[in-house]
Amino acid sequence: MHQILKLSDRSSKSIALGLTPLRDATRNKGCECFMPRRKRTFACGHKGYGRKCHRCEQERMAQEKVEREISQKKQKKQEWEATFCDDLIDLKGLPDYVVVKARSIIAGLTDNKSYREYGGKRLRHNRFIVSIPVTRNYRMICEDYGSYVVPQKVMSHEDYNVCKPGS
Ligand SMILES: [Zn+2]
Repeated sequence: MHQILKLSDRSSKSIALGLTPLRDATRNKGCECFMPRRKRTFACGHKGYGRKCHRCEQERMAQEKVEREISQKKQKKQEWEATFCDDLIDLKGLPDYVVVKARSIIAGLTDNKSYREYGGKRLRHNRFIVSIPVTRNYRMICEDYGSYVVPQKVMSHEDYNVCKPGS
């Protein structure tokens, strides 16, 4: 009686030692590698994997990019507007490429270049006024002081024609 008990005791012990760790190992393995990842619902209502919502994260990043671009544009505009303070004549409100071209002409005239180098001509009805083509549609009106001209205004071809007396 005593011996039988001992024997069964030993066999249950061997089961405990042999099978249980094996079963544990299998379960752990399944958890880490073979169980499908489960979608969860985030606070925002979207469903997805991971710790935070990738959809909202992407939207947030896109929004930040837009805001960054807007503020860069705004800063560029402010910097551009600040440059008008340095102009000899008011060039505000003109298309950018006209402003750039007008500035290069003004710089040239200031540097004692002749208005003729820029295709400028005296007006027929007023010999003291010189008109320099800035672009196809814009003219720079300058006053002629004999040895030099002083820029007065940049105007569109239309305004220029309206301004012209007798037309
Ligand atoms: Zn979301």
